[in-house]
Amino acid sequence: MVKAVVGANWGDEGKGKITDMLSENADIIVRFQGGANAGHTIVNNYGKFALHTLPSGVFYSHTTSVIGSGVALNIPVLVNEIKSITDRGVPEPRILVSNRAQIVMPYHILFDEYEEERLGKKSFGSTKSGIAPFYSDKYAKIGFQVSELFDEDRLRDKIESVCEKKNVMLEHLYHKDPIDQDELFKTLCEYRDMIEPYVADVSLFLSKALKEGKTVLLEGQLGTLKDPDHGIYPMVTSSSTLAGYGAIGAGIPPYEIKQIVTVCKAYSSAVGAGAFVSEIFGDEADELRRRGGDGGEYGATTGRPRRMGWFDCVASKYGCRLQGTTDVAFTVLDVLGYLDTIPVCTEYEIDGERTTEFPVTALLEKAKPVLTELPGWKCDIRGIKEYDQLPENCRRYIEFIEERIGYPITMISNGPSREDIIYRKR
Ligand code: GDP
Repeated sequence: MVKAVVGANWGDEGKGKITDMLSENADIIVRFQGGANAGHTIVNNYGKFALHTLPSGVFYSHTTSVIGSGVALNIPVLVNEIKSITDRGVPEPRILVSNRAQIVMPYHILFDEYEEERLGKKSFGSTKSGIAPFYSDKYAKIGFQVSELFDEDRLRDKIESVCEKKNVMLEHLYHKDPIDQDELFKTLCEYRDMIEPYVADVSLFLSKALKEGKTVLLEGQLGTLKDPDHGIYPMVTSSSTLAGYGAIGAGIPPYEIKQIVTVCKAYSSAVGAGAFVSEIFGDEADELRRRGGDGGEYGATTGRPRRMGWFDCVASKYGCRLQGTTDVAFTVLDVLGYLDTIPVCTEYEIDGERTTEFPVTALLEKAKPVLTELPGWKCDIRGIKEYDQLPENCRRYIEFIEERIGYPITMISNGPSREDIIYRKR
């Protein structure tokens, strides 16, 4: 059976924590898209970790962690990340990397930087991890699959033809030094030696595992609103963030995905540029940012302060619908305990008309939030294990949002660690 853990919004919803928690009863955890540009923060008995490439189930010794072919594989980042967790006492994880996954090349990272530099004020707010140039090359069919590292003659030929193209751009568009082919070849040979112990035919492995009745978790990165098809294009990421893509990026049949856990945070945050209708500013935002998440709302990869906002029912309803949600995991609810009243965005007003449906980008940029104030609960809800034990106003907040998004909230996260979870029967 396959379950997916995905985000409803702009990312940073707390998917890492939910994946880590659900991994206890899973055999295999698969990353199916994205790269080292976003991170998951996980708190467990080994400490606090920011993962960028490894799946969040990597801390259990009974699980296998898989990097599917849909991922932008940054080999040195992966290898360093494995070392960084084993150095802190986590048992050596079992890791498989798809032989069809493509490699983030050193020049992808440079092109990402140069392009943001060229765009100046109009930049996308990229994390400069090479993700957009990587996926551009993948679909332009000039990417390098892991398996290609193992055929030196082919590799040299391909480097030559790719560099011819890249060097024209480097020289004439960005006015930078060209790529040194010999150096690139040497780097790729180093990458080959680093990755060799992990390379596998991942889709075959997963197919056999499913036949044996194993439980597979697909772990998404970012959220619906960053999806290149259904998100706030062009302020999106370069690979699909939807559960449906999990089948492709892992290499399994779509009908195997039986449960889709969509993670929604109890308030909003976003990184990078783009419309963010329920955004708040000034002291109000600073306070929520400071109290948010586990130690503040700052990017796990970049340390950038996140943009903050109130819960957005319009965006979250849309986000859950596109994921095909079976369960909503409602996270970081404990953080809101300081507020007397909690604003929630229930509708958008666009050109004088109100709507609860998430619009296309051009209209989204004109949308103004329609806010409803709900009473706060003014206490610390960490440690509570039963839904009925939550303060009444807290339950009202959950139920108000559940009704508006239209998908069942079956898990409530009231703290960063594995144990901070309330299961709700419906
Ligand atoms: P992801 O990319 O979706 O995994 O999200 P992040 O790694 O940005 O997670 C959000 C942050 O919130 C992390 O620092 C988590 O440790 C933290 N976190 C997750 N769930 C909860 C929760 O229920 N309460 C609190 N206070 N923090 C949480």
